[in-house]
Amino acid sequence: MKITDHIKGRGDKTLFSFEILPPLKGGNVAQLWEGIDPLMDFNPSFIDVTYHREDFILRKRTDGSFDRVITRKRPGTVSICAVIQQRYKVDAVPHLICGGFTKEDTENALIELHYVGIDNILALRGDARKEDRFFIPEEGGNKNALDLIYQIANMNNGIYLDEALTDAAVTNFCSGAAAYPEKHADAPNMESDINFLKRKVDAGAEFVITQMFFDNSRFFQFVQRCRERGINVPIIPGIKPITTRKQLQTLPAIFNLEIPYELSQAIEQCKDEKAVRETGIEWAIQQCKELVKFGVPVLHFYTMGKSEATRRIASAVF
Ligand code: FAD
Repeated sequence: MKITDHIKGRGDKTLFSFEILPPLKGGNVAQLWEGIDPLMDFNPSFIDVTYHREDFILRKRTDGSFDRVITRKRPGTVSICAVIQQRYKVDAVPHLICGGFTKEDTENALIELHYVGIDNILALRGDARKEDRFFIPEEGGNKNALDLIYQIANMNNGIYLDEALTDAAVTNFCSGAAAYPEKHADAPNMESDINFLKRKVDAGAEFVITQMFFDNSRFFQFVQRCRERGINVPIIPGIKPITTRKQLQTLPAIFNLEIPYELSQAIEQCKDEKAVRETGIEWAIQQCKELVKFGVPVLHFYTMGKSEATRRIASAVF
């Protein structure tokens, strides 16, 4: 079922959804299901599965020198989505990125997702590889999420890359796009970022999921600016509780966001990591309660492979 249909059918209720990561290569997929099982009590409308492009790693040789090898650390997005749909009867939303994909690769991936019975896709550009300063598209690949959304829209109209393919099977994907209440790191300003978001929506994105944020006022302002700009699709807030002290540094650096002073101060004053976790969870509960009052269609949680904090928050909110 399309995410937009879940949202249309929700009445006044706020829906629950969450994001998971495929296990690290060599990891045990059973741990993934163990993480999902406790969250099923909250009746998720959909579960997102991230996509991780290949990256260079250094592998040590016996003589002590290093080989630079390319590997994908977390493969398995498509098969995990297929299992989620079968095992839990919940819509799985694969993330699909531009980085590392030619348009032909993307087309083949879309065909696979269509065969597996996937209805929704979160269409993303992907980040720069660790060794690159800026994002570099694959030769013959989509340059940004907008291009990818166009490609999905084309396949929804039976338009494939090979123009000789006539009467090709029509897909029916519901595309979503990412958005940034505190601006994407590459964007020169918020106005420009929102203009590109509008173009993604005009190209076919039917819902938006935001980057995590810790200050609801940023989200409220963002929604208002989007609406003023004519972006009328559902905007789904992404929620992540702070669970370690170190995240005070890592989250702003990785995700280009601010942690409110009140929260950072409360965490700095915690006597141990357990207290940090409790503070982070309590903050997220209050954030979620306010977002529900605001009328958000869905609360979407970044579990980062750990479900306990999300379970605690969901228990307090739903
Ligand atoms: P785009 O929409 O392409 O935007 C990227 C930047 O370019 C922005 O600054 C934008 O303003 C600008 N821009 C947009 N369109 C144009 C244009 N036509 N011309 C010029 N500039 C333009 N990454 C992963 O690798 N795997 C994942 O599974 C994953 N999941 C994510 C889930 C969510 C909800 C979010 C918010 C992010 C996720 N990311 C993931 C990270 C994401 O890939 C990065 O934030 C990436 O840098 C940008 O992706 P985007 O789709 O927002 O890019």
